[in-house]
Amino acid sequence: MAETLNLFRYAHFAQLPEPYRGLEANERTERIQRALDRLGDSTLILGHNYQHEEIYEVSDITGDSFKLSKEAAASDAENIIFCGVTFMAETADILTNGERNVIIPSREAACPMAGMAEMVQVSQAWDEITRVVDPDEIVPITYMNSYADLKAFTGRMDGAICTSSSSHEIFEWALEQDKKILFLPDKHLGHNTAHDLGYHDDDWVLWNAWHPEFGGTTPEAVEDARFILWEGMCQVHDRFAPEHVDQMREKHDDVDIVVHPECPRDVVEASDYAGSTSQIIDYVDDAPSGSTIAIGTEVHLIRHLQREHEDKHIVQLCGEACLDCNAMRQIDPNYLTWVLEELVKGNVINRVTVSKEDRDWSKVALDRMLEIGS
Ligand code: SF4
Repeated sequence: MAETLNLFRYAHFAQLPEPYRGLEANERTERIQRALDRLGDSTLILGHNYQHEEIYEVSDITGDSFKLSKEAAASDAENIIFCGVTFMAETADILTNGERNVIIPSREAACPMAGMAEMVQVSQAWDEITRVVDPDEIVPITYMNSYADLKAFTGRMDGAICTSSSSHEIFEWALEQDKKILFLPDKHLGHNTAHDLGYHDDDWVLWNAWHPEFGGTTPEAVEDARFILWEGMCQVHDRFAPEHVDQMREKHDDVDIVVHPECPRDVVEASDYAGSTSQIIDYVDDAPSGSTIAIGTEVHLIRHLQREHEDKHIVQLCGEACLDCNAMRQIDPNYLTWVLEELVKGNVINRVTVSKEDRDWSKVALDRMLEIGS
């Protein structure tokens, strides 16, 4: 197994019973396997691409958040252990109609970006915005990386969910209806998508929910804008800067720079390709042997790609300064051991459930995404 990343720390054991805190790798691997043997087909482990190698290796299926939620829905397993973050487990519960035990090993695995658009803030913003914009002329589009109550709000307001690979199609759907878009919660994905569709800096405004007055903007600017971008971002992708791209090009003559569209616009512009997690994986899969590819995304995905493509030179776009995701890091194997051993005893720990009302409205917004996009 690759050396453990410096930035990777099993630091948050608040919920974990004491006997599980000091488990060593060998012992927990054996215990996880023993529990899985006992649980058999009743239990499916889903591992997000940003998970640590040890979690990746015991996962039945790996992938990005939406792929994993669809896999949950397609499986017959009674217990779905979602090794990702809480909004992903919620999406799995929505897509499985609340009929399975969707379990997250640690409840501390909460995505900071999803937490930047709390429903109380969004409701207030919607009220303020629709005082100056006719509600029939604006539609919310919400990134998959959001909590279920916001997905449900999006469904109620006739909006749609998007992923980083379907954002262009979903934006076009709203624009063709001549609607203004309120995009939540990732300003960079919104900015990159609008820009790719031919819009310019004077076509959008930022809505800062922490600003005491009208989101830090003006009614006139909101009236004029085509896009209102929520002031939220992913701490991992926001860290990349154009200097990282320049330095990489100086270091390697023939390097392809590939980044995630959650990165700032100037980074995307300086790069050769921007794509979602699954598009980045495909890009690397399709690259010829011997290629040099510098990737700007969460560091564990880059590590997985390095292991899987030894014939290619895959490097981290910002070297050792590249971040792992704090939230994903909370799913440590000791937590996984705990929830699996409790399942063997018949105890379901950390089941993630979404209320029926939120589930039904979220489903409306998710289904709209599937109808419109890929
Ligand atoms: Fe959230 Fe960013 Fe972590 Fe993904 S990588 S879970 S968007 S903080």
